[in-house]
Amino acid sequence: MIEGVSTAGQKDGQEPMRRCVSCRSEDSKARLLRFVVVGSTLCFDARQRLPGRGMQVCASRICLERAAKGAFQRGAQRSDIELPTSSDWIDESIVSALRRLYEEVISSGRISGQLVVGSEAVTQAAKDNELVAYLVAVDASQGTMEKLEANARRKGLPVKGLLDRQAMSRLIGRENTVISGWKAGRLHDRFMVLEAQLRGLAGASAPVGEERQRETDSAETDDRKEEQEVDLIQS
Ligand SMILES: [Zn+2]
Repeated sequence: MIEGVSTAGQKDGQEPMRRCVSCRSEDSKARLLRFVVVGSTLCFDARQRLPGRGMQVCASRICLERAAKGAFQRGAQRSDIELPTSSDWIDESIVSALRRLYEEVISSGRISGQLVVGSEAVTQAAKDNELVAYLVAVDASQGTMEKLEANARRKGLPVKGLLDRQAMSRLIGRENTVISGWKAGRLHDRFMVLEAQLRGLAGASAPVGEERQRETDSAETDDRKEEQEVDLIQS
C-alpha cells in the first residue's frame, strides 16, 4: 500500500481516517486533534475548519509531547515551524479550546432540544427510550450517582459529564442542574468525541472544572432533592 492521504482517506461509507504524526496509528479524523501551519506558526484547529494541509495527533499527552519535539516538523516536512516550548502548551492551547467547545456543544444541545433538561422531561424521555446518554454533574451526590448508574445500566446508556453542577446550571440556564439526557444527533456525537478527548488529556491538571468546596448544610439538602429527582427516572 502507498503511504499517504489517499490510503488513510475515506473508505466507502466509513468515517474519514487519518494517521497520528507521532505514533502513526490510524483513527477517525473527528477523534484526532488537527493542527495546521499558518506562516511558520503551528495552530491547533479545534473546529477542524482551518484551510491548509492538516496534521493529526491523538488526544493524548504522550503523542502531543512527541509531536512538539519534532513530529510536527517531520509531518509538515519542514524544519522552520515554531514548535511550542512552554510546558503548559497542552493545557493552555488545547485543553482550554476543547473545553470551550465542550461547553458550547452542551449549550447548543440545550437550545436545540437535543439535550433534555429538567427531571420530568428527562424522566419522560428515558421512559420513551429517546435518550442515548446521560449527562451528570461531577459533584452529584453519591446517592444520585448510584441510582443513575443503576438506571443507566438497565437501559444500556452511558453516563458522561466533566462539569460541576454550577457550570452545568450556567450553560443550561437552569438552577441546580445535576442530570440531563442526550437524544441522538450531531451535537451528541460531537459531545462524545470532545468528552473522550478531554478525558484522554486529563492528567497534569483537571480537564474541566475545579473541585468545588461545598457547604455541608446546603449540600446535604441539595443531595436529598437530587436523589428524589433521580427516583423519578425509573421505568
Ligand atoms: Zn498518536
